[in-house]
Amino acid sequence: MKQKSALLLERAVVPPAVLEVVQGLVTAGHEAFLVGGCVRDILREQPPKDFDIATSARPEEVQRAFRRVIPTGIEHGTVTVVVRGVHVEVTTFRAEADYLDGRRPSKVEFHTDIEADLSRRDFTINAMAWDPVGKRLVDPFGGRDDLASRTIRCVRSAMERFLEDGLRAMRAVRFATVLDFAIAPETEAAIPQTLHVFRKVAMERINQEFTRLLLAPHVAQGLTLTRRTGLLGQFLPEAEATEPSAVARAPADLAIRLAVLLHHAAGVKDVVLRLKYPVKVATDTAHLVEHLDLPAADAPDAQLRRWLATVKPEHAPSILDAAGALGGSVATLMDRSAALIASNPPLSTKALALNGGQIMKVLNVGPSPIVGQATAFLLDRVLDEPSLNTPAALESLLAGWKPPA
Ligand code: ATP
Ligand code: MG
Repeated sequence: MKQKSALLLERAVVPPAVLEVVQGLVTAGHEAFLVGGCVRDILREQPPKDFDIATSARPEEVQRAFRRVIPTGIEHGTVTVVVRGVHVEVTTFRAEADYLDGRRPSKVEFHTDIEADLSRRDFTINAMAWDPVGKRLVDPFGGRDDLASRTIRCVRSAMERFLEDGLRAMRAVRFATVLDFAIAPETEAAIPQTLHVFRKVAMERINQEFTRLLLAPHVAQGLTLTRRTGLLGQFLPEAEATEPSAVARAPADLAIRLAVLLHHAAGVKDVVLRLKYPVKVATDTAHLVEHLDLPAADAPDAQLRRWLATVKPEHAPSILDAAGALGGSVATLMDRSAALIASNPPLSTKALALNGGQIMKVLNVGPSPIVGQATAFLLDRVLDEPSLNTPAALESLLAGWKPPA
């Protein structure tokens, strides 16, 4: 185990710019480590998404050690070193997280030892540091063992960690879901007991974690965990009655998964906006939920075309995916609607072979409600019979048409 870890870390592909920054800090007489997610991912034999550096150097000392340094979050001890165009984040050892109990700590205290820095981190698997120059791994909380047993466990006391920052409970569930790990019993047990702190967390922060959970392959496990721990009831009680496996059957698309999750909710758009998703996601989700009632699989083509005209053809595949995830049998409708859409039938007034001006000319009228009524009549006819959509055929239809009394 220990040997394998050392081998993985020594052989890890670390971007040259990152190594250069670590080396530069060490040369200037400071300690510098790769920390957090990148160490975890190397040990999981997965490519890290980004490389964070923790150092004993104070922000001013980091600024002095390199030519180009952007003071990105200098009050929290974070600066960005730019080496050959690559941006590398460097954070001074600290013993506090950015947010305590949903608020910023009154002051950030810098530390000189890596262990103090690791002790402020959320989970053991995220609380390891690797010194790529001295080839030293610092793992004070058993991160390697928890990686091996696929366990999410808080650093030290779970109760204390969750009372300091309520988001960590949601992060525990998110990491368990994304990594397909289990949450250690004492860590999970602390979640229901600290919900009063979770309730104060900004929805924007919850959203980030929840979105990653929702799009993960093991979303069913994640939703079960959020429900069982009481987290879901705090921020999305509307979804508590939904069967988690239904969400997992839907493709990993935000609006589709949200629609399945919220298919029983009232005011879907407002619920999605409350979760701080963009307006587009909210309207797409609401549109999906609104149209979950499908035509019969053997409905006549004309009825399917009317359905496509109502839901808009571009939304049909998502609607069918959502309905299918909820247990409908949609394979036939998927094939039939794809074939219908491919034949490109006229489904909206814009697709009619006569435009408004031409219709006015044929009817010999100026702009008036009659034009709209005639247009609706023509669309209705071509939805039944798409081959009627030629100028000549529409003109003769108009010849026999009378405006409704
Ligand atoms: P991911 O691959 O999901 O980005 P990550 O581990 O890089 O995983 P980040 O959210 O980018 O996660 O955070 C970087 C590191 O900062 C974490 O590994 C963890 O050590 C620490 N961290 C992040 N958020 C918290 C928090 N709320 N409380 C304590 N430590 C945290
Ligand atoms: Mg990260």
